[in-house]
Amino acid sequence: QPRQNDDGRRLRLGVMGGTFDPIHHGHLVAASEVASVFDLDEVVFVPTGEPWHKSAQEVSPAEHRYLMTVIATASNPRFTVSRVDIDRPGPTYTIDTLRDLREERPEAELFFITGADAMAQILSWKDIQELWSLAHFVGVTRPGHVLENMGRDDVSLLEVPAMAISSTDCRERVADGDPVWYLVPDGVVQYIAKHGLYADAERSAQKPA
Ligand code: ATP
Ligand code: MG
Repeated sequence: QPRQNDDGRRLRLGVMGGTFDPIHHGHLVAASEVASVFDLDEVVFVPTGEPWHKSAQEVSPAEHRYLMTVIATASNPRFTVSRVDIDRPGPTYTIDTLRDLREERPEAELFFITGADAMAQILSWKDIQELWSLAHFVGVTRPGHVLENMGRDDVSLLEVPAMAISSTDCRERVADGDPVWYLVPDGVVQYIAKHGLYADAERSAQKPA
């Protein structure tokens, strides 16, 4: 990894955390828009680990969510995917995500991207004071949610193109036999069908071969 980009400034790295069950165009547009406005060199998507307190019916195995995220981001040279959260045992806390990425990429300035709904909960997050010191936070608009102004210099708010899409809605559509074309990338539609995700809880709980 280059320590700096061409003009000699610190590498600017966006961090997009999420369950990505499945990843959809709301995630991708948010990451793309923040990358453009904040002049980011790269955005790393970080699928969360498997929450021990949730059953397979609630969250798909991490390997499926990881692979869908890889498929969805593969065509964008500035988008990458990290396994830090899925390879760390136990529930995912953003503080651990940022500490691990900081260690892996000490040269980078981190920009943590979060939707309005997650932003509203941010004050309840673990080790909030250290979080502020590890990354700049970018809260993005999301239909149906109010983006709270945190009143902090290290938190920016950004209006992104409104995509009224959620993973929950995508899962329900698949379970009901409704299409998810154009809500998620084509390759993700095909991955969901290939592995029978969301259609029937028993099959989708199996890990990919
Ligand atoms: P679920 O319905 O399972 O909670 P989700 O659609 O909320 O899924 P997550 O993986 O929970 O997706 O979200 C990851 C991050 O992306 C969060 O910060 C969330 O606020 C943000 N996000 C998700 N969907 C959108 C969207 N349509 N527009 C803007 N931000 C979004
Ligand atoms: Mg969510």
